[in-house]
Amino acid sequence: MSIMGAPSASGRFGEYGGRFVPESLIPACFKLEEAFTQAWADQEFTNEYHRILTEYGGRPTPVTELRRLSEQLGIRVLLKREDLAHTGSHKINNVIGQALLTKRMGKTRMIAETGAGQHGVATATAAALLGLDCVIYMGEVDVARQALNVFRMKLLGASVVSVTSGSRTLKDAINEAMREWVASVESTHYCIGSVMGPHPYPFMVREFQRIIGDEAVVQAGEILDGGVPDYVVACVGGGSNAAGTFAGFVDTPAKLVGVEPEGGAAITHGIPGVVHGMRSNLLQDDVGQVLEAYSISAGLDYPGVGPEHSYLSSIGRAAYATANDAEVLNALQILSRLEGIIPALEPAHAMAYVMREAGKAIPLGSTVLVTMSGRGDKDAELVARILGETS
Ligand SMILES: *Cc1c(COP(=O)(O)O)cnc(C)c1O
Repeated sequence: MSIMGAPSASGRFGEYGGRFVPESLIPACFKLEEAFTQAWADQEFTNEYHRILTEYGGRPTPVTELRRLSEQLGIRVLLKREDLAHTGSHKINNVIGQALLTKRMGKTRMIAETGAGQHGVATATAAALLGLDCVIYMGEVDVARQALNVFRMKLLGASVVSVTSGSRTLKDAINEAMREWVASVESTHYCIGSVMGPHPYPFMVREFQRIIGDEAVVQAGEILDGGVPDYVVACVGGGSNAAGTFAGFVDTPAKLVGVEPEGGAAITHGIPGVVHGMRSNLLQDDVGQVLEAYSISAGLDYPGVGPEHSYLSSIGRAAYATANDAEVLNALQILSRLEGIIPALEPAHAMAYVMREAGKAIPLGSTVLVTMSGRGDKDAELVARILGETS
C-alpha cells in the first residue's frame, strides 16, 4: 500500500479503519464503495465535480503569502484559503462530491448529522443545488445552541430533526442518522462530514478533499520557484481538511503536521478503540468508556479522529501536536490584525501551533503552508463574549 493511496480491501489503513457496522448496513457500505470507486474513475463524474466546484464553489481557492506575519515570526507563511470557498469552509468539497454520488446511485435523499451545524448547512446547500431532499439530525441541545444554523438549513430547504435520546448531542444524532439510513437505504444516502466512519467514508471523503492539497502543491510551487514548503500544517477535528491537504504533499519532502485541540487530542492522548464504525485513536478511560472531548471550537470537539491520521502518526509520516484555547484566541487576534483575515477557531489551532513553534520546532527561515479551513464569521459572537469577559 502506498502512503495515502487506497486502503486495503477491508478498508484498513494499517491496523486502523475497517467497517465496524451492524450486519444490516454491510450491503449499503459495499454498494457505496462500488459506486464511489466507479464514479471516481469516470471522467464524466470528475469533470462535473470540478465544474461545480469551479463555477459554484469558487475554486481554485488562492494561496496567500502572509508577509507581515512572516516578518514577525522569521519564517515564511503561506495560507491555503478554504475560507474563500462557498459557504466559508472546505466542507463544500465533500458535500458536492457526495451529493453527485447520491444522484449517480439513483437516490433522491441525503441525510446527515451535525453538531455545531456547519456540516448540516453544507449538506443542505449541496442538496438544494442538486435538487435532493435533505434531512439533518441534530441533538436537541445543539438545536437550541445553534438556532441560526438551524434557520439556515431550513432556508436551504432541509428538515431538521431534533434528537431527544441520550445526551441529546452529536453522538446521539449520529446514532439516529445511522438508524434512519438502515431504514431507508434504497432512497437515501448518508452524507458523513469528515474522514470518519466505516469504509469507504474515510477514503472517499479524503479523495473529495484532496483537491485542497492538489491545488496547494502547484500554487506553493509557483510562489517558491518550483520548491515545496518545509512544513504543511492543518487543524484536525475528524481530520478531513488535514487529510485533503496532506494528500497533495505526501509524496514530497514536506513535513506534515496535524494540530488537535488540547481537550480533544485523540492522536496525542487517545488509544486505539472502535467507535462509529471504525477503529482509530480515541479518548477513553481505563475501561474503554469514551470520554467527552472539549474544545473552544465546536468543529473540533470530537473524542475520535479519522483512522488514516492514526495510521500516518503510527508510521511517522505525519506528526501531531496540540494547541490550547488561550493560544488559539491569541492566534486569531494576531492573524486578524496583521493580515486582515479572521480565521475560524478550528484553523486558528493550526496558526497557534505555527506562531508558538516558529524558531523552535520550526527553524527560522523555514517555509510553512497552513490550511485556513474556514472563515471566522461563525465564531465572532463567541469570541466577542470570551474576550469581553477576560479583558
Ligand atoms: C468542520 C470544520 C473543521 C473540522 O473538520 P475536519 O474534518 O477536521 O476538517 C475544521 N475547520 C472548519 C472551518 C470546519 O468547518
